Amino acid sequence: MQDAFDFGQGGAAEGRVQEGRAARRCAELRTLLNRYAHAYYVCDAPEVPDAEYDRLYRELEALEAADPSLIEADSPTRRVGAAPLTAFAPVRHAVPMLSIRTETDTTAGGAQAFDGRVRRELGLSDEAAPVEYAAELKFDGLAISLRYEQGILVQAATRGDGETGEDVTANIRTIGQIPLRLPDCHADVLEVRGEVYMRRDDFEALNERQRLLIAAGARNEKTFVNPRNAAAGAVRQLDSAIAAKRPLSFYAYGVGEVRGWTVPSTHCGLLDALAALGLPVCEHRVVASGAAGLVAFHQKIAMVRDDLPFDIDGVVYKVNDRALQERLGYVTREPRWAVAHKYPAQEQMTQLLDIDIQVGRTGKLTPVAKLAPVFVGGTTVSNATLHNEDEARRKDVRVGDTVIVRRAGDVIPEVVGVVLDLRPANASPQFDLYRHLDGRCPVCASPIAREAGEADWRCTGGLTCPAQRKQALLHFAGRRAMDIEGLGDKLVEQLVDAGLLASVADIYDTERLNLATLTPLERMGEKSAQNLLDAIERSKATSLPRFLYALGIRHVGEATAKDLARHFGTIERVMSASIEALLEVTDVGPIVAESLRHFFDQPQHVAIVQQLRAAGVHWPDTEGVAADLPRPLLGKTVVLTGTLPTLSRDEAKALIEAAGGKVSGSVSAKTHFVVAGEAAGSKLDNAHRLGIEVLDEPALLKRLQS
Ligand code: NAD
Repeated sequence: MQDAFDFGQGGAAEGRVQEGRAARRCAELRTLLNRYAHAYYVCDAPEVPDAEYDRLYRELEALEAADPSLIEADSPTRRVGAAPLTAFAPVRHAVPMLSIRTETDTTAGGAQAFDGRVRRELGLSDEAAPVEYAAELKFDGLAISLRYEQGILVQAATRGDGETGEDVTANIRTIGQIPLRLPDCHADVLEVRGEVYMRRDDFEALNERQRLLIAAGARNEKTFVNPRNAAAGAVRQLDSAIAAKRPLSFYAYGVGEVRGWTVPSTHCGLLDALAALGLPVCEHRVVASGAAGLVAFHQKIAMVRDDLPFDIDGVVYKVNDRALQERLGYVTREPRWAVAHKYPAQEQMTQLLDIDIQVGRTGKLTPVAKLAPVFVGGTTVSNATLHNEDEARRKDVRVGDTVIVRRAGDVIPEVVGVVLDLRPANASPQFDLYRHLDGRCPVCASPIAREAGEADWRCTGGLTCPAQRKQALLHFAGRRAMDIEGLGDKLVEQLVDAGLLASVADIYDTERLNLATLTPLERMGEKSAQNLLDAIERSKATSLPRFLYALGIRHVGEATAKDLARHFGTIERVMSASIEALLEVTDVGPIVAESLRHFFDQPQHVAIVQQLRAAGVHWPDTEGVAADLPRPLLGKTVVLTGTLPTLSRDEAKALIEAAGGKVSGSVSAKTHFVVAGEAAGSKLDNAHRLGIEVLDEPALLKRLQS
């Protein structure tokens, strides 16, 4: 008896302890969720991924369901969104803007559970016919209510807390897809509800622009975590000129207050009617029969999700018949007749294990996060880009951190943020790319450099860095460089992969490239092998500007290569020129000069130049001493127009430039003379108008020889 009594006491005490624990956890969850909701809805700057928010939300929901006495009025499970910002005029919604219940079971079970609930609520027996649903996409943006009066857009409001939203009419008007007028709508009031979102390509372009602005030193600029966040920030932007620069899109998915317009009897009919009025309605929608129809839709959309141009986080099922919708009614914050059936989240939290630096084809160094593998956007991800040093620092990413990874569509997975609350005491110091690599390319050990105003660090070992090999070879062989016909993308790929080419000097190494080594290659018959060898042989006779350009020195394009050749005359003089000497060349500024010095300061680049010359690459002697030759067109600006009888445009240009002249694209008072051929157009007219001398081809040739 005594024992039993003690037992009873102990049990009650334990129960109280548990209750206390549950109450404490509820309070903790409410505080956390309210904080996250504030960051998400009010600041448009989420602190954690949705998946984490949803996980905590479900935990709270379960605790409250187990013990309803724990429910409090301020619980996030009782409310929609967040109170509107006072910076905007409040808009009271005549018909509340609610949330949608979420089905987190991403398998077929999610759709079956919803159909089961609907059937139970409607009192349908197992034998009764399947319920008809409208199935559509769940756009990941923010809800907007558009109020049209007599067909004119008079107001646009956010959802806010569902009862009161924010007047964002000025910003919404900047969205091209939203009609300011519905010509065929004469309703007193038609409130169209839908989602404002940002397409993924628009989002990537916006972030790329932001990254460039930041690299160029712009303050107060930031990149956005995801398209939803960027869209929400744009819509709730106080300056509508800024909002207008953010590319937004819109889809309608329902109505709010309606007066003087007959609402069709089904949801699908309603969407058709909205589309007929000229509103954008998404084409990915069906009428689905019963749970099986919903499951099929969920699966079909899962297959195309990555290919959609915008983010979705699930699909939405709605009971199609509006009369049935009314019978089913609403619970606290959501209708009973609709549900959002999710897909695997596109953002997740995981651990940052290390930061690697990847060397791209052009020498760009990209910091890449090594992650504890995490399932995100439908695949397991263990690497994600950090874009560049500035981004890694701005996000304050440190090894050991819990980071948020995003993978959506075909876009490379990226680290979009850090959960600062979870930073361990032993996290690494602030990321410093130069220190991380000790100033050397991780692939070829050449020095790395970052130019002023550039976001990226780069490897300076262009010609010799294995990571840049294919790019360097392709550029070298290009039409405007050494012009090796047939040595294109696929062949370079094949030759490098077969180990036949490692550097541009190898092209002329007959021990590497010959009939015996080439013919075994796939699709390389004897004839094409011989053609390639012939083209290589022909390319040896080149010009100094082409050769300089072919080396692929950063910032040395064709025009600069010509200027350098003209100024210095020999490759030796270019290679040994000091920064000061380089700066004397027309159009060469500090960035180009530094890039040239960086390049030729590396002995392996000098060695390659020597190997190429030893292999027989040569150019006319006259070019080598061009600086000392008479140059009849020195300082003259010439314009070419029409078709010349024997010279091609490129040839005429080359001759004029070799004689010291400059070829310009348009006629102005600064033009010295115009060379006109057959079918010359407005440039000739302009020359006549301005009284500028006009030459034909024979006259040009004479001038060149003078
Ligand atoms: P919700 O966004 O999941 O669903 C309701 C919304 O879906 C509607 O308001 C509407 O805007 C939208 N919607 C899209 N397509 C629709 C369609 N075809 N038909 C009808 N509606 C459609 O719900 P919610 O209550 O706005 O917010 C909860 C969501 O916000 C969760 O996913 C949660 O993870 C996220 N959240 C995240 C954080 C965070 O810190 N990361 C904080 C708060 C909320």
